[in-house]
Amino acid sequence: MSNSASSAPVAAPGVGAVIDRVDEILEATYLSGDLGNVSDVLAETVYILLSRQTRETVYQRVYSDLRRRFTTWEQMLRARPATLERIIRPAGLGQQRAAQLRALLREVDRTSQEFHVGPYGKDGGDLTLEFLRTWSSEATVAFLEKLPGIGPKSARCVLAYALGEDRFAVDTHARRILGRLGIVDDKPGKPNHDVFEAAIPRAARVRLHVNLVHHGRAVCRESAPRCEDCPLISFCVTGRSKAASIAGRDAVVDLFGGAGAMGLGFKQAGFRIAAAVEIERHAAQTYRLNHPGVPVFETSVEDVTGEALRSWLPGLRAPAVVMAGPPCQGYSAAGARTIGDRRNLLFRHVSRLARELGARSVLIENVPGVRRVNGVTYTERITATLRRSGFATWKHPAVLRASDFGVSQNRRRLFFVGVGSGVALPEVPVPTHIPPGAAKRDRTLARTVTLTERLRDLPNLGPGEGSERLQLSDGRLILNSTAMKHSPRVVAKIKAIAPGGGPISYRRLEGDVARTLVAGHRALPVHPTQHRAITVREAARIQGFPDTYFFCGPRASQPLQVANAVPPALARAVARELRKSLGASEAHSDKPCPSAVA
Ligand code: SF4
Repeated sequence: MSNSASSAPVAAPGVGAVIDRVDEILEATYLSGDLGNVSDVLAETVYILLSRQTRETVYQRVYSDLRRRFTTWEQMLRARPATLERIIRPAGLGQQRAAQLRALLREVDRTSQEFHVGPYGKDGGDLTLEFLRTWSSEATVAFLEKLPGIGPKSARCVLAYALGEDRFAVDTHARRILGRLGIVDDKPGKPNHDVFEAAIPRAARVRLHVNLVHHGRAVCRESAPRCEDCPLISFCVTGRSKAASIAGRDAVVDLFGGAGAMGLGFKQAGFRIAAAVEIERHAAQTYRLNHPGVPVFETSVEDVTGEALRSWLPGLRAPAVVMAGPPCQGYSAAGARTIGDRRNLLFRHVSRLARELGARSVLIENVPGVRRVNGVTYTERITATLRRSGFATWKHPAVLRASDFGVSQNRRRLFFVGVGSGVALPEVPVPTHIPPGAAKRDRTLARTVTLTERLRDLPNLGPGEGSERLQLSDGRLILNSTAMKHSPRVVAKIKAIAPGGGPISYRRLEGDVARTLVAGHRALPVHPTQHRAITVREAARIQGFPDTYFFCGPRASQPLQVANAVPPALARAVARELRKSLGASEAHSDKPCPSAVA
């Protein structure tokens, strides 16, 4: 059993699910970047021989020098030992490796004679190991492992990279990271390659090995791993043990974290996210990928207790903020708005966890529809619940409009803030921008750019065009830029829709500022000028996410992740005010809190 699974306070993804998530995050990060491997079997075998315990730049240079100096393998075999040794010396152990290389080539020469291949028969030409392509896996491994300097790891590398087999090579990086993640119960001494390989699904083996090498070099290093920059920290006991202390007094616990928009706004205001809770797998993956160093607990907030969070995140003390944007479908104008909807009462768990964790403040965000659902006033319920948990609150929740804070969207959000004893209630954020079309009464405010300007430099795409990583001719890489496919009949309908018109699933955006983005039937609204739904990237731009923010998961999940998010600029505005109050309370920790409405 994995460490991650065994140490989790409530049900957490099992080992197979953890491998899936690790694989997805590493592939999104490193894209199976080229490690310099080659497809010729003998060339790959020599390349792997030189790579053992040597820095990448060094062994790649030595390999190139050898191939430049000897145009055929036969020439290399007949070379003077001193010449080989001189070329190999920069990689270390020059004499030993030169002897291994000559012995390896001699063995290849002998086998070529035996099987009448290469210079001794079929095809003619140079020494070769291409005949291994017709051998079974077992026979190939047995043959390769008898070659000087080639062990089980190197043999698997040759099988994976040159022979195209789904094999997993346990090198130093793969062993270290999988061990730290608790995916394989590794024992001291030589690794059991079969145990590692059996743990990894076939389809992921080669890709995962490549990406683990990149991750081991860049982040999860042997000494001083950079856990604060690691997107795998959710699954790692070692990393999680440091997360709370890294966050320190600015720690925020982000419940119902979604794709991480509130977390982004709070980070921009100077807070540190100590942990997030998000039950939806793809949103949790988006959070992990875009907020490396933040452990994301993939479970229901209803099942989480303060004690469980502390055991999952050792060292977590009273966080500065517990914040949450509970699901809004029960209140939202776009939802059914039913009184008995269980989701309408999830705010109670936010209040409970803030109390159990001893948070110094609490923030709940939701849609304006929370004010009244079929005669029930939820704002008062939420405020009363926070007060019963010991927090002083604003008399009324603050209603903020995104376009007043530089976002090209008229989305409104309600913010409930509660503060613990000794912390003054923060000010309600004042607008920083003038929305498009509004009179500019205050000259100090910037103007929010129009939606047309916001999308101007993104590519023109037809339905079904684009890709998740769209490389433009000017060198820019545009993420999540796959346009939805529409049938000719739907395209004809869309063409007839004027800006601001159309049904909820195909409403065309206006060019100045968007209404609240919704993902009706998982589709985003229609582009202001192009005849298709906007891409996830265009929606993310409108919401105010940076272009580097990548949304994980299938195409059906991404629009929901973006549309359900709070514009980060709104979260940032509230966070800045909260930070001032918390900072002041630390400076005057024994001063009473006169402005609190208890
Ligand atoms: S959290 Fe730290 S120890 Fe764990 S995998 Fe990441 S870098 Fe390695």
